[in-house]
Amino acid sequence: MTTSLSFHPRVVALFIAAGIGMAAPGAFAQPVDLPAAPACTAPARPTPSLTEGPYYKPDTPRRHSLMTERRPGRRIVLTGYVLTRSCRPVPGAWLDLWHADSRGAYDNAGFDLRGHEFTDAEGRYWFETIVPGEYPGRTAHIHVKVRAPGQRVLTTQLYFPGERNNARDELFDRATLLKIEHIAGRGEEPVQVGRYDFVLAMP
Ligand code: FE
Repeated sequence: MTTSLSFHPRVVALFIAAGIGMAAPGAFAQPVDLPAAPACTAPARPTPSLTEGPYYKPDTPRRHSLMTERRPGRRIVLTGYVLTRSCRPVPGAWLDLWHADSRGAYDNAGFDLRGHEFTDAEGRYWFETIVPGEYPGRTAHIHVKVRAPGQRVLTTQLYFPGERNNARDELFDRATLLKIEHIAGRGEEPVQVGRYDFVLAMP
Protein backbone atom coordinates (compact mmCIF):
# COMPACT_ATOMS: atom_id res chain seq x y z
CA MET A 1 0.00 0.00 0.00
CA THR A 2 1.30 3.41 -0.87
CA THR A 3 0.63 6.58 1.02
CA SER A 4 2.66 8.88 -1.19
CA LEU A 5 0.84 11.62 -2.97
CA SER A 6 1.11 11.46 -6.70
CA PHE A 7 -0.85 13.29 -9.35
CA HIS A 8 -1.62 12.52 -12.92
CA PRO A 9 0.43 14.86 -15.18
CA ARG A 10 -2.79 16.44 -16.35
CA VAL A 11 -3.63 17.37 -12.77
CA VAL A 12 -0.15 18.79 -12.29
CA ALA A 13 -0.70 20.80 -15.46
CA LEU A 14 -3.92 22.12 -13.94
CA PHE A 15 -2.08 23.19 -10.81
CA ILE A 16 0.56 24.93 -12.87
CA ALA A 17 -2.04 26.62 -15.04
CA ALA A 18 -3.97 27.78 -11.98
CA GLY A 19 -0.79 29.01 -10.34
CA ILE A 20 0.01 31.30 -13.20
CA GLY A 21 -3.56 32.45 -13.58
CA MET A 22 -4.37 30.66 -16.81
CA ALA A 23 -7.02 28.11 -15.91
CA ALA A 24 -8.68 28.16 -19.32
CA PRO A 25 -8.23 24.84 -21.17
CA GLY A 26 -6.58 26.65 -24.07
CA ALA A 27 -3.80 27.89 -21.84
CA PHE A 28 -2.05 24.54 -21.41
CA ALA A 29 1.48 24.37 -22.64
CA GLN A 30 2.43 22.31 -25.63
CA PRO A 31 2.32 18.69 -24.38
CA VAL A 32 4.79 17.08 -26.80
CA ASP A 33 7.62 18.14 -29.08
CA LEU A 34 6.24 18.98 -32.49
CA PRO A 35 7.42 17.03 -35.54
CA ALA A 36 10.91 17.94 -36.73
CA ALA A 37 10.30 17.47 -40.45
CA PRO A 38 7.36 17.10 -42.82
CA ALA A 39 6.34 13.68 -44.14
CA CYS A 40 6.19 14.81 -47.73
CA THR A 41 7.59 13.94 -51.16
CA ALA A 42 7.17 16.52 -53.92
CA PRO A 43 5.02 16.83 -55.89
CA ALA A 44 2.69 15.89 -53.07
CA ARG A 45 -0.93 14.97 -53.63
CA PRO A 46 -3.20 17.62 -52.12
CA THR A 47 -5.29 16.60 -49.13
CA PRO A 48 -8.75 15.74 -50.49
CA SER A 49 -11.66 18.03 -49.86
CA LEU A 50 -14.28 16.14 -47.83
CA THR A 51 -17.78 17.19 -46.96
CA GLU A 52 -18.34 19.78 -44.24
CA GLY A 53 -21.43 18.07 -42.82
CA PRO A 54 -24.16 19.85 -40.89
CA TYR A 55 -22.36 20.83 -37.68
CA TYR A 56 -19.83 23.52 -38.54
CA LYS A 57 -19.99 26.76 -36.55
CA PRO A 58 -17.85 29.77 -37.47
CA ASP A 59 -16.17 32.14 -35.03
CA THR A 60 -14.67 29.44 -32.83
CA PRO A 61 -12.34 30.32 -29.97
CA ARG A 62 -8.65 30.42 -30.73
CA ARG A 63 -7.07 27.71 -28.57
CA HIS A 64 -4.78 24.71 -28.73
CA SER A 65 -6.84 22.64 -26.30
CA LEU A 66 -10.39 21.79 -27.28
CA MET A 67 -10.95 19.65 -24.18
CA THR A 68 -13.57 20.58 -21.62
CA GLU A 69 -14.52 18.91 -18.36
CA ARG A 70 -18.09 18.55 -19.63
CA ARG A 71 -16.97 16.25 -22.42
CA PRO A 72 -14.40 13.78 -21.10
CA GLY A 73 -12.69 11.18 -23.23
CA ARG A 74 -9.45 9.62 -24.34
CA ARG A 75 -6.93 12.40 -24.85
CA ILE A 76 -5.13 12.83 -28.15
CA VAL A 77 -2.69 15.44 -29.39
CA LEU A 78 -3.07 16.25 -33.07
CA THR A 79 -0.05 17.67 -34.83
CA GLY A 80 1.66 17.99 -38.18
CA TYR A 81 2.43 20.47 -40.91
CA VAL A 82 0.52 22.50 -43.41
CA LEU A 83 2.43 22.17 -46.68
CA THR A 84 2.30 23.13 -50.32
CA ARG A 85 2.56 20.56 -53.12
CA SER A 86 6.28 21.20 -53.26
CA CYS A 87 6.45 20.33 -49.53
CA ARG A 88 7.05 23.93 -48.45
CA PRO A 89 5.70 24.54 -44.93
CA VAL A 90 3.04 27.24 -44.65
CA PRO A 91 3.43 29.49 -41.59
CA GLY A 92 0.38 31.34 -40.32
CA ALA A 93 -2.12 28.89 -41.82
CA TRP A 94 -5.50 28.86 -40.08
CA LEU A 95 -6.92 25.51 -38.93
CA ASP A 96 -10.44 25.25 -37.52
CA LEU A 97 -11.48 21.93 -35.93
CA TRP A 98 -14.80 20.54 -34.79
CA HIS A 99 -15.80 17.05 -33.77
CA ALA A 100 -18.23 14.94 -31.78
CA ASP A 101 -17.70 14.03 -28.13
CA SER A 102 -16.94 10.48 -26.99
CA ARG A 103 -20.65 9.61 -27.26
CA GLY A 104 -20.97 10.93 -30.80
CA ALA A 105 -22.69 14.23 -29.94
CA TYR A 106 -21.66 17.66 -31.20
CA ASP A 107 -21.91 20.74 -29.03
CA ASN A 108 -24.23 22.82 -31.20
CA ALA A 109 -25.10 25.25 -28.42
CA GLY A 110 -21.55 26.19 -27.46
CA PHE A 111 -17.99 25.59 -28.57
CA ASP A 112 -16.95 22.42 -26.73
CA LEU A 113 -14.55 20.44 -28.94
CA ARG A 114 -14.33 23.32 -31.39
CA GLY A 115 -11.51 25.77 -31.90
CA HIS A 116 -8.97 27.25 -34.26
CA GLU A 117 -5.25 27.95 -34.25
CA PHE A 118 -2.51 28.97 -36.68
CA THR A 119 0.61 27.17 -37.81
CA ASP A 120 3.89 28.34 -36.28
CA ALA A 121 6.88 29.80 -38.15
CA GLU A 122 7.81 26.24 -39.22
CA GLY A 123 4.32 25.55 -40.60
CA ARG A 124 3.33 23.25 -37.73
CA TYR A 125 0.06 23.05 -35.81
CA TRP A 126 -1.03 21.25 -32.68
CA PHE A 127 -4.29 20.66 -30.85
CA GLU A 128 -5.14 18.71 -27.75
CA THR A 129 -8.54 17.07 -27.69
CA ILE A 130 -10.33 13.76 -27.14
CA VAL A 131 -10.97 10.91 -29.52
CA PRO A 132 -14.47 11.45 -30.95
CA GLY A 133 -17.16 8.80 -30.80
CA GLU A 134 -19.11 7.44 -33.73
CA TYR A 135 -22.60 8.57 -34.57
CA PRO A 136 -25.16 6.87 -36.81
CA GLY A 137 -23.71 6.38 -40.27
CA ARG A 138 -20.32 7.87 -39.41
CA THR A 139 -17.07 6.36 -38.25
CA ALA A 140 -14.91 8.42 -35.86
CA HIS A 141 -13.72 11.59 -37.58
CA ILE A 142 -12.51 15.11 -36.94
CA HIS A 143 -13.65 17.92 -39.22
CA VAL A 144 -11.01 20.43 -40.24
CA LYS A 145 -10.89 23.62 -42.27
CA VAL A 146 -7.44 24.77 -43.36
CA ARG A 147 -6.54 28.02 -45.06
CA ALA A 148 -3.15 29.38 -46.04
CA PRO A 149 -2.92 33.16 -45.81
CA GLY A 150 -4.77 34.70 -48.76
CA GLN A 151 -5.87 31.30 -50.15
CA ARG A 152 -9.11 29.34 -50.35
CA VAL A 153 -10.35 27.21 -47.49
CA LEU A 154 -9.84 23.45 -47.68
CA THR A 155 -12.59 21.59 -45.80
CA THR A 156 -11.75 17.99 -44.96
CA GLN A 157 -11.97 15.30 -42.28
CA LEU A 158 -9.38 13.23 -40.43
CA TYR A 159 -9.87 9.55 -39.67
CA PHE A 160 -8.48 7.03 -37.19
CA PRO A 161 -6.69 3.87 -38.34
CA GLY A 162 -8.15 0.52 -37.32
CA GLU A 163 -11.67 1.77 -36.65
CA ARG A 164 -14.09 -1.03 -37.37
CA ASN A 165 -16.59 1.26 -39.09
CA ASN A 166 -14.16 3.02 -41.43
CA ALA A 167 -14.98 0.56 -44.20
CA ARG A 168 -18.73 1.05 -43.71
CA ASP A 169 -18.64 4.84 -43.87
CA GLU A 170 -19.21 6.10 -47.41
CA LEU A 171 -17.39 9.32 -46.61
CA PHE A 172 -14.26 7.60 -45.30
CA ASP A 173 -11.04 8.39 -47.18
CA ARG A 174 -7.78 6.70 -46.30
CA ALA A 175 -5.86 9.69 -47.66
CA THR A 176 -6.70 11.54 -44.45
CA LEU A 177 -5.91 8.80 -41.93
CA LEU A 178 -4.06 10.00 -38.87
CA LYS A 179 -0.84 8.24 -37.99
CA ILE A 180 -1.22 7.31 -34.34
CA GLU A 181 1.80 7.09 -32.05
CA HIS A 182 2.33 7.02 -28.32
CA ILE A 183 5.31 9.21 -27.61
CA ALA A 184 7.06 10.50 -24.54
CA GLY A 185 5.33 13.62 -23.38
CA ARG A 186 6.60 16.44 -21.26
CA GLY A 187 4.74 14.91 -18.31
CA GLU A 188 5.21 11.42 -16.89
CA GLU A 189 3.10 9.37 -19.23
CA PRO A 190 3.27 8.69 -22.96
CA VAL A 191 0.92 10.85 -24.97
CA GLN A 192 -1.29 9.56 -27.76
CA VAL A 193 -0.44 11.62 -30.82
CA GLY A 194 -2.26 11.73 -34.15
CA ARG A 195 -0.05 13.04 -36.93
CA TYR A 196 -1.27 14.43 -40.21
CA ASP A 197 0.42 16.75 -42.68
CA PHE A 198 -2.06 18.73 -44.78
CA VAL A 199 -1.08 19.44 -48.37
CA LEU A 200 -2.80 22.45 -49.94
CA ALA A 201 -3.34 22.78 -53.68
CA MET A 202 -0.63 25.43 -53.99
CA PRO A 203 2.65 25.15 -55.88
FE1 FE B 1 -19.20 14.90 -38.35
